[in-house]
Amino acid sequence: MNERDIDKHSVNCYFCGDLEDERECMDADEFNNNDGGSICPACLQSVQNDIEMAKASFKLKEEAGGYWQENSDFPLRNWMDEVQNEDTRQGYWEWLVEKMEEAEEDA
Ligand SMILES: [Zn+2]
Repeated sequence: MNERDIDKHSVNCYFCGDLEDERECMDADEFNNNDGGSICPACLQSVQNDIEMAKASFKLKEEAGGYWQENSDFPLRNWMDEVQNEDTRQGYWEWLVEKMEEAEEDA
């Protein structure tokens, strides 16, 4: 890609602000209330991961009976220990998603 190309097609990612080639970017409207702009591939991946996480944690929360419940295989106490030890920055339900995925992979 030559320099003129980069200039003509360069846009700042709406999320990270990095200069990117717009042809490699997606419309950011879907993720920012139609505020316009572009989203770079890395940010798009990150946002999609967050959406997948939100779906998965929502499902586990519903299955357990709501926000204040817990999963008996992975009790709150274990999550609290990890938070206390600074092993995670996640909330309980997001942490649970990852624990259950790990358990599945180990099985
Ligand atoms: Zn970005």
